[in-house]
Amino acid sequence: MNISTPHRVGEDDPIDVFDHPEFRGHEQIVFGHDAASGLKTIIAIHDTRLGPAAGGCRMWRYESGDAALTDALRLSRGMTYKNALAGLDFGGGKAVIIADAQKDKTEALLEAFGTQVERLAGRYRTAEDVGISTADMDVVARRTAFALGTAKTGLGDPSPYTALGVFEGIKAAVRFRLKHDDLSGLTVSVQGLGNVGFGVARYLYEAGARLVVSDINDRSVARAIETFSARPVDPNAAHKTDADIFCPCALGAGLNSVTIPEIRAGIVAGAANNQLASDQDGKRLLDAGILYAPDYAINAGGIISIALAGPGDKDTLVREKTIAIGQTLTRIFERAQTENLPTQTIADKLAQERLSSAV
Ligand code: NAD
Repeated sequence: MNISTPHRVGEDDPIDVFDHPEFRGHEQIVFGHDAASGLKTIIAIHDTRLGPAAGGCRMWRYESGDAALTDALRLSRGMTYKNALAGLDFGGGKAVIIADAQKDKTEALLEAFGTQVERLAGRYRTAEDVGISTADMDVVARRTAFALGTAKTGLGDPSPYTALGVFEGIKAAVRFRLKHDDLSGLTVSVQGLGNVGFGVARYLYEAGARLVVSDINDRSVARAIETFSARPVDPNAAHKTDADIFCPCALGAGLNSVTIPEIRAGIVAGAANNQLASDQDGKRLLDAGILYAPDYAINAGGIISIALAGPGDKDTLVREKTIAIGQTLTRIFERAQTENLPTQTIADKLAQERLSSAV
């Protein structure tokens, strides 16, 4: 679909937004443009039954308007589930800006995006995401009262909260699977040593775990070896290394028909988004006897910190809610065992149940 030209019924290309493969009853989709700054944005509000839609703004060099729309539709729906499962009184939404964050990002463009958000009068709350920093949010906030995680109201970088949530999730998985609380002596393969992965590694190290680390960035690996006495492994072998827990903290789609049979750990629990390459991979993990912590349940610490931050010190509240990720995962694990279903399916069910009860 070409969103830059008006679509007329009966033209050769029959796709419109409502027939789009990623359209799932979204409440509102806004296409925003500002000629002066060059802003092209799509804001997708998926579901506001639990409250105003909240979700980050992604700046990316999309190859087409359709690719941007696909991302906005998919990610906004993901935020509905993530916010519901995290117990937040927010619905799901997401914004994308079609631009190169390295070359095209200007204050005028960010302000124009703020104007678009403000026009939605609070139905959508924006925040940082790929290509957009917390400092950028301060610029967006010049034009809208609905920017979350700014210098004035926010707790800063959400990654430390994401790392805390992942650590709590790993502990919950160990408790469920190994029937003890102690991580000392367990081996964890941490793949990706960025903002979140390095933070998770630090928690694990302090809890006495042995670390196997991997990253495509050699300097990050060297730092982890020095700080945590970690053992390095090739990033492509991180999942098949001999470990008790595999902790993916790099990119998504790492759990698929090729990698799952190679995993030696009994637990997969990490921060990366969209870890399952397809729906069948949840079943594959179940069949392989691997306990999987659903990605959007375990990595919710960041959105919790962004959504609950506000004037005054909210750190304690955010920490409590982030630590509760462990309890949510325990509920997911128990129900998945009872119903003999993939943990991802149970996470979806729990989110859907909360959404239905809000009506
Ligand atoms: P980051 O960019 O800081 O770190 C990612 C790290 O992964 C980098 O060090 C990079 O070199 C490494 N990497 C990239 N490809 C790799 C590969 N093939 N093998 C091994 N390492 C590789 O990102 P982050 O903020 O730490 O986020 C990590 C993951 O967690 C992402 O999938 C992100 O979407 C997800 N996540 C992050 C947050 C947050 O608060 N930052 C919240 C929710 C989910």
